[in-house]
Amino acid sequence: MGKRVLIIGAGGVGNVVVRKCASVPEVFSEIMLASRTKSKCDAIAADIKHMNIKTAALDADNVPEIVALIKEFKPDLVMNIALPYQDLTIMDACLETGVHYLDTANYEPKDEAKFEYSWQWAYQERFKEKGIMALLGCGFDPGQSQIYVAHAAKHHFDEIHYLDIVDCNAGDHGQAFATNFNPEINIREITQDGKYWEDGEWKIIPAMSIHKAIDYPNIGPKESYLLYHEELESLVKNFPTIKSARFWMTFGAQYLKHLEVMQNIGITSIKPIMFQGREIIPIEFLKALLPEPGSLGENYSGETSIGCQIKGIKDGKDKTYFIWNNCKHQDADNDAKAQGVSYTTGVPAMLGAKLMLEGIWMKPGVYNTEEMDPDPFMSQIGGYGLPWHEEINPVLPHEY
Ligand code: NDP
Repeated sequence: MGKRVLIIGAGGVGNVVVRKCASVPEVFSEIMLASRTKSKCDAIAADIKHMNIKTAALDADNVPEIVALIKEFKPDLVMNIALPYQDLTIMDACLETGVHYLDTANYEPKDEAKFEYSWQWAYQERFKEKGIMALLGCGFDPGQSQIYVAHAAKHHFDEIHYLDIVDCNAGDHGQAFATNFNPEINIREITQDGKYWEDGEWKIIPAMSIHKAIDYPNIGPKESYLLYHEELESLVKNFPTIKSARFWMTFGAQYLKHLEVMQNIGITSIKPIMFQGREIIPIEFLKALLPEPGSLGENYSGETSIGCQIKGIKDGKDKTYFIWNNCKHQDADNDAKAQGVSYTTGVPAMLGAKLMLEGIWMKPGVYNTEEMDPDPFMSQIGGYGLPWHEEINPVLPHEY
């Protein structure tokens, strides 16, 4: 029997989630798209001809407004595809109304560039008591990256010891500077300190201070920077045999040059300043100047490659393993009028929602994706556009 889903956020990723959900009407039989700017919802809905997508204006910072919309539409699941700032207000509204929840990025407070799961994990008991489920971070990374680790743990290793998540965007969108997902969230992420897990503790490094070339399938070597990424926190908790966990992401010279200048002049700051008699936050002003992530798809060439390089033990022997997906920006645009980064986030979000609504990934409480059985996800994700590949015992050129 079909279910109702309320999707909040009509940006680059929201567009993909709506289109992919609408392509599975036997599960998502009724869809509502709600966001701050209703005209963006209407534009997406108007382009989906085979299904009537309802739309609504919603300020998802406001719990009573979300509760009222949930009571009106009566969804089985709310998908937060707006921003991490809205995670807790939407979780509160789900608790009040008894509706399941899914998001793609963990909560961070607006006035502090810091993300960690503690705020959302604190809902565990309340979600259990209410009999509802929250699936956290079900995009690609976080999301599919952890499902890759769960798949490796289930089928390839007795113990995982070393993990490198390697994320490359070798695409060209033709703009001098643009971010592939929400500019504010993206710039906050990469300008904060780097952090990785080693021998039972977090090591903190200055932003972008560790980097090296990593060889990506079908792309070749690309300079990659060690960043802190949220899934490291849940992975080292859920796989306590991990001795080292790191996250690497590529950035082009052009991107880094612009970022350096913007930082130097202070326009990436999250501290309010007075401008012509009113308070503004520089990074919010910058966001208004930059291209919307959802607008980059049409002329984007090249591809993304995201995977997990893993070392560990199987049957008493050392083993290495590499699992990855490559996604061409043009294929993403053809399938969902999106660039590859929005696409690789939106497709796993749809599949996670589908598995929840089918009862396959359904248990009350708050969970990260690696806590779910990876098999139903891994057997279906290729069919929805993100096929995976694996190599057993590759040479992993990483020094430990
Ligand atoms: P966009 O900036 O393109 O879209 C964000 C959308 O949220 C916009 O439509 C915006 O409305 C809406 N929104 C913002 N604030 C509110 C609010 N208070 N109430 C209602 N709607 C609001 O971002 P993306 O689509 O690129 O990113 C969406 C999410 O996906 C982010 O949380 C991002 O961190 C996450 N992400 C996760 C990835 C993963 O792999 N896990 C990778 C990439 C992104 P308006 O149009 O009015 O501004």
